[in-house]
Amino acid sequence: MTEPLLKVRDLKKHFPVMKGILRRQVGTVKAVDGVSFDLMPQETISLVGESGCGKTTCGRSILRLIEPNSGEIRFREQNLPDLEEKALREIRRHMQIIFQDPFSSLNPRQTVGEIIGAPMVLHGVCSRNEVDERVRNLLSKVGLQPTYASRYPHEFSGGQRQRVGIARAVALNPDFIVCDEAVSALDVSVQAQIINLLLDLKDEFGLSYLFIAHDLSVVRHISDKVAVMYLGRIVEFADRDSIFERPCHPYTQALLSAVPHANPRHKKQRIILPGDVPSPINPPTGCHFHTRCPLSEDRCLNESPQSHEITPGHRVSCHLY
Ligand code: SF4
Repeated sequence: MTEPLLKVRDLKKHFPVMKGILRRQVGTVKAVDGVSFDLMPQETISLVGESGCGKTTCGRSILRLIEPNSGEIRFREQNLPDLEEKALREIRRHMQIIFQDPFSSLNPRQTVGEIIGAPMVLHGVCSRNEVDERVRNLLSKVGLQPTYASRYPHEFSGGQRQRVGIARAVALNPDFIVCDEAVSALDVSVQAQIINLLLDLKDEFGLSYLFIAHDLSVVRHISDKVAVMYLGRIVEFADRDSIFERPCHPYTQALLSAVPHANPRHKKQRIILPGDVPSPINPPTGCHFHTRCPLSEDRCLNESPQSHEITPGHRVSCHLY
């Protein structure tokens, strides 16, 4: 049986909340609070949930762009939190990220050729003599003119800049890319082009994606599996069709009820959740979702639900299952 490319177990990232002149710690934000999943080779898992649910922190903790507090992150047989700086730098070559805002993530003083080419020379992917040719090839693979290598980021549109960001991410032949809201800032028509480009590159380079997004229509198009997060925890995890056809957790059901359907005859009841997401500094007791859940019972107030596998590969954290 194929081994997972990435194994995440009980990942936690907590931020201290400091106050006063003496900067005393007065609380803790549990941004990621015990996340576990496996990502198989050439698979796309989407992390979804409302703003502030911890999905971006989760993606960045996995890459150790921010240091997690605890948990295992096994990638290529190595536990990333155990690695020293040098070993981490070496393995990072195989793990890349595409950011939401392509403009602020590209150095405005470097040409596109330098932005894409410098990491290739640094990591020994190619020699200085070969780098121009490789940059030109990559630019045409992501749908840009090879001659654009001499231009600067400000000379491109948002969609073109995101293509440059994608070319930079695949330049080192990675196995795994975190797409952190990679299409959220783009127009709908450009979003579709970038999603199709990501799908083509996945096939061509055998990539695995952790796709962080809040637009569920996009998630349905790109994902193999979906993890639904609420206040730092995964509350439901399943393959894409199970999540979209048979959502079980009341939170997933509410999120999906807001997604427009292509067929106007398709009528479904919109589930409006009361209130906002509670503060992660002081999350509700028991099931974190009980303050907004339309199906909440007495025990939900005190007992935190465990994750149960209700069908093979479909896990839900809710007392109803
Ligand atoms: Fe709702 Fe209770 Fe299930 Fe939480 S455990 S989602 S409050 S029914």
